[in-house]
Amino acid sequence: MCEYCHKHGEGKKWYLQANNYSQDLLSDLKRRGISFDANILGKDLRRWEELKKAPFLVRAIQEPRTAERVRNMHFGQVLPIEDVEQIFGIVNNVVRLSCFCRRTRGVKEQRYCYGVSVVPQGDEAKQVVSSSGMGFFSGAETGGLEKVSKEEALDSFREYEKEGLCHSVWTAPTPFVIGICNCDRSDCGGIRLTVLGGMPILFRAEYVAEIDPELCNGCRACMRVCPFGAIGYSAGNKIAFIDIGRCYGCGICRASCTKDAIHLRDRSSVPAVANLW
Ligand code: SF4
Ligand code: SF4
Repeated sequence: MCEYCHKHGEGKKWYLQANNYSQDLLSDLKRRGISFDANILGKDLRRWEELKKAPFLVRAIQEPRTAERVRNMHFGQVLPIEDVEQIFGIVNNVVRLSCFCRRTRGVKEQRYCYGVSVVPQGDEAKQVVSSSGMGFFSGAETGGLEKVSKEEALDSFREYEKEGLCHSVWTAPTPFVIGICNCDRSDCGGIRLTVLGGMPILFRAEYVAEIDPELCNGCRACMRVCPFGAIGYSAGNKIAFIDIGRCYGCGICRASCTKDAIHLRDRSSVPAVANLW
């Protein structure tokens, strides 16, 4: 279990705790001090860039503080499809919305993000969006939260897996769950910051993948879709292998394997990566 499961999930998966979706949590007056504010988040992200040029001692003190502040406001964790299905068993409202990260990367509107909540009209998603200081969601091209059924959303998620998109659950502010995104390494701000920028705001899933060498035929389809570059190929053995130190447990490789050779294991059952987030 990651540190957020201990802090916000009573030792269970934090994103499967119904109270992390509740209106009470969002409107808790004590939590107003860390409301989601895109301007403050933006400042912290710029500060992170500046810190890269600072002396070692300054970095050693300031980087963990900045990363923790960002995580308190906006934090994500990778999810395989079976955990997305469990979240959909908790929430009663799903809305599709335009992806902010892709827009910032110059990609035209793509609705790969889903707000989830436990109220009928998606009011919590609107509340977070309207309090964020972002005009983004009220623009002519991007405005509007499009209500979809859970079944429709899950069908789309399965199609996204075939495109190589990885699911991730996000808070704003932590631990209030606002939505589930479908990300790739090229455009997702969370993956880019975590993997390329060194700021861990996207934790690995509670799982890690493994390949059954008896079933693998070495086709390398899994290598092509892994968003984290965790899969290699042994020319000698003519099979693929997973670098578990790089694996985020998203299960995207599993969806691409026609030989059913890839499975996810509980991260806690693999000592080498049990505490790697
Ligand atoms: S997709 Fe499956 S069969 Fe192909 S290399 Fe990967 S694990 Fe092996
Ligand atoms: S190897 Fe790990 S990170 Fe890569 S696609 Fe598979 S589960 Fe995801």
